[in-house]
Amino acid sequence: MNIAIDGPSGAGKSTLAKLLAKELNITYLDTGAMYRALALKACNENVPLSDEKAIEELISRTSIDVLPGENGSIVFLDGKDVSNDIRQHKISKMASDISAIKCVRIYMVDLQRKIAFARDSVLDGRDIGTVVLPNADHKFYLTASVEVRAERRYKELVARGEKCDKAQIKDDIEKRDHNDMHRQFSPLKKADDAIEIDSSYMTVNQVMNKMLDIIKGRK
Ligand code: C5P
Repeated sequence: MNIAIDGPSGAGKSTLAKLLAKELNITYLDTGAMYRALALKACNENVPLSDEKAIEELISRTSIDVLPGENGSIVFLDGKDVSNDIRQHKISKMASDISAIKCVRIYMVDLQRKIAFARDSVLDGRDIGTVVLPNADHKFYLTASVEVRAERRYKELVARGEKCDKAQIKDDIEKRDHNDMHRQFSPLKKADDAIEIDSSYMTVNQVMNKMLDIIKGRK
């Protein structure tokens, strides 16, 4: 069984994907973490994201592994656990930029399909239902208002000890939405057969129960 959860930043995809995976005893794959890991490497090595050849070369000497951990995915970049480093605010923007590059998408989609075809899994991202797993058994498109999403991201970053400005975060989220929805390759959009859930005024449990009802055919 494969479950696809797509949607914009901060809609609650990874929280729900983690819970669903636990409940259904299947693998959780955080595909955004993979783009973040590559962005982190480009950042550490000062590789310009405008240079597609350089990014292609970077990919050729990069290994990204995502393993299931207690609290979601553990992400390894060239063998080193970078699960924490990839969550920095500056890496979010870089991940969005790097994910618009064609060779990056080809590399990631291939990697994600290999993982998903090998085991029952729930994947969260932007193009899972449309490109990575168009035949997924269940597809969800999770949204929330930009205000609610900015508030959630703000709390997350503060809890991690990052200094941040709420208005700036909202602005960054809007820019990232725009980037993700308007890029040429695999833009973020709802798959025709995905079920849309607006989580703005729902608790995590309410969203989770709604998804489980659909997956288990109770609704
Ligand atoms: O989900 P997360 O915020 O960690 O994703 C970081 C960035 O990676 C997103 O803004 C998006 O541009 C990109 N991404 C993508 N396709 C996916 C997952 C993430 O383009 N399947």
